[in-house]
Amino acid sequence: MSVWEARKIRLVMELRQQGIADTAVLGAIERTPREAFVPAQFHDKAYDNIALPIGNGQTISQPYIVALMTQALCVDRSHKVLEIGTGSGYQTAILARLCRRIYTIERIPELLRGAEDLLHKLRIRNYTAAAADGTRGWVAQAPFARIIVTAAAAAPLPPAELVNQLDNGGIMVCPVTREDRTQHLIKITRILDQFYYEDLCPVRFVPLLPDVEAAMNIIPETKRIASA
Ligand code: SAH
Repeated sequence: MSVWEARKIRLVMELRQQGIADTAVLGAIERTPREAFVPAQFHDKAYDNIALPIGNGQTISQPYIVALMTQALCVDRSHKVLEIGTGSGYQTAILARLCRRIYTIERIPELLRGAEDLLHKLRIRNYTAAAADGTRGWVAQAPFARIIVTAAAAAPLPPAELVNQLDNGGIMVCPVTREDRTQHLIKITRILDQFYYEDLCPVRFVPLLPDVEAAMNIIPETKRIASA
């Protein structure tokens, strides 16, 4: 067994002890080489249960939080998923192994290029990526069965334009920064036109920022969705 595999198995055991019980989620983590998604100088820490820098002032989330968010989404093979904040592409890779197709948006084109190279190397093909402002969602592809946001929205709630792209029966998870500056992971379930909010736990994420870092928004807007 390689040193990576031994470390990965130790991490999966730790996640189980922390309450991650969904075997599909644990299996997806086991099949995804986190060392490939972290910069070389952090390789030694790739399977520590911590967030790590990925450049451009951004971070790859702590494995426990990736597992918790993925588990909270209850993803299955029939689901079309929207992810805001591709970052390293690690969470994208995990979700791609569980859903039908994932649409992922990142506002820093350089990070997106790196993530796409890695997804290609891992032969993950059931994704579509765009360098754009994810706060507006992906109008041409909406609605989505699941939405995950991996950067913190400002209080009180995630952008309405994004929440409205959730399908009936859909689930969204998103960190939200409150006015007292604490962050909480929020789970939103849509039943027809009702939205149910659940506070999962305190978290720490980089902020969800408006606009694309380098100007161009490449998502075609074919259809507008009414705001709540
Ligand atoms: N899921 C990532 C974590 C990335 S950190 C991983 O597994 O590595 C959050 C990411 O959200 C950063 O890359 C940041 O650039 C991006 N982000 C922040 N605001 C955004 C926005 N409005 N639209 C798209 N991406 C955004």
